Amino acid sequence: MAQMFVNGEWSDALSGETYVVKNPANGEAVDSVPLGGVDDAQAAIEAAKAAFGGWASTAPDERANLLRAGIAKVKENMRDLSLLLTKEQGKPLMEAGGELHHFLHGMQFYADLVSKIRGEMAPLPPAMNPKSYGVLMPFPVGVSVGIVPWNFPITLMGTKVGPALAAGCPIIIKPASTTPLTTLKIVSLLNEVGLPPGVLQCVTGPGSTLGNELISHPDVRRVALTGSSETGQRVMQVAGPKFKRITLELGGSDPMIVCPDADLRKAVNGAMIGRFWNAGQACLAVKRLYLFEEIYDEFLAALLKKVERYEPGDGQTKAEKPRIRMGPLHTESQRVEVQDQLADAVERGAEVLVGGTIPDGDGMDKGYFYNPAVVANVSEQSRLVTEEVFGPVLPVFKVSNLDEAIAKANASAWGLGASIWTNNMKWANQAVREVESGMLWVNQIHYGYDEMPFGGVKTSGIGREHGPEALDYYLEPKSVVFGGLD
Ligand code: NAD
Repeated sequence: MAQMFVNGEWSDALSGETYVVKNPANGEAVDSVPLGGVDDAQAAIEAAKAAFGGWASTAPDERANLLRAGIAKVKENMRDLSLLLTKEQGKPLMEAGGELHHFLHGMQFYADLVSKIRGEMAPLPPAMNPKSYGVLMPFPVGVSVGIVPWNFPITLMGTKVGPALAAGCPIIIKPASTTPLTTLKIVSLLNEVGLPPGVLQCVTGPGSTLGNELISHPDVRRVALTGSSETGQRVMQVAGPKFKRITLELGGSDPMIVCPDADLRKAVNGAMIGRFWNAGQACLAVKRLYLFEEIYDEFLAALLKKVERYEPGDGQTKAEKPRIRMGPLHTESQRVEVQDQLADAVERGAEVLVGGTIPDGDGMDKGYFYNPAVVANVSEQSRLVTEEVFGPVLPVFKVSNLDEAIAKANASAWGLGASIWTNNMKWANQAVREVESGMLWVNQIHYGYDEMPFGGVKTSGIGREHGPEALDYYLEPKSVVFGGLD
């Protein structure tokens, strides 16, 4: 049985209760974990509070070296960790390995930034004191909490752990209930190299009880959530009135616009990976595809050929080339949701060009497999457009010009990412200025670089992760005025 990691030690839930984590590819138990509750959250917060002063004053070089040593430990265990991630999440081994590499790259990025954190000097007018000058000194915010979803449990843990530890804040990670196992393993590996107890902890259990305590407790100063827009609202309701520092990385419905002059081969690849990676369960994913009418037929023909190559199956096995393995959806309710969203579009007149069915065949009934779909003639009122689609279904729209494409792209509650595929600078510039999104790619797959701030506008969230900018959310700048030395 797996255990939580609290105050430098493995522990059970104080209630002694546990629950089982199941493999979405076959329904088998992967392991059981503690069903933590309010008192477990409180124990972790107390340990983090006790660890704060010591960690904040640990020399930057030492903090960076501990992070680097932890990264090396995780690297030694990549194979086992990838396998565990595949078992609990469902994604193919190749994607699990990719996620771990992305996590390590992000952690390295912040390890390298620890010694680069610095303040600023502000010249001041002489009226009060001719010798005075101002200094902005960044201090770590305090006990931080990272709430993580199940779709990319490891990278999205890293986007919180990296900047928190670099800035000098202890952090408590709460993984999604269905994906705690690889997270627990990694948290323990990072601790093994000598992190003081309470600096990096992981507690497991439901969001509604344990998670709620983490975001509402007065000793927690910083809450970083990646999750659905509904949970984001809940965090604002609970943590907002307590004036905590909050960042919310929420849902998305990224538009992708393909102009007639685009490199179609690259754009088709971008749409395919953009929509179907992780079985479509990604916040940053191509969820609405707008094709200029001049290239509509050619693009679709090439796209369908590629999508037909996907073979749903257990992520622990490879598909035979040229087939491409797609893992199961993460839960049955996730699959039902996607099926319902597609059925709603069909009722409103949409045409399913490929997929959209549950595959049959050996063992298929044991997991939550789904044939990836491409859908045309989709009504703007259908749930495929008005809701976030967290699965492998891609609605495709024909547009006659860029103004129409941008108007449709912006007719969405979300504003996470977007892309335009063109070599025309005028069109690219128009998209950069007018598309409402936190990130925009020109001729590039929707990908979140560790080096660039990542986040959304509108219902997609508040604040940014990734980049040196993420550190700002874990640092409080104190304005200090020196009146001069006499
Ligand atoms: P979710 O909102 O259901 O859960 C996310 C996390 O919040 C889980 O750990 C959950 O236990 C916790 N939680 C739930 N209620 C809580 C509460 N009241 N208090 C504290 N914690 C609580 O999301 P999910 O289904 O795990 O993930 C899918 C969603 O995440 C999608 O909407 C997706 O777009 C979004 N997402 C966003 C990003 C991004 O960076 N913008 C990245 C990945 C996923």
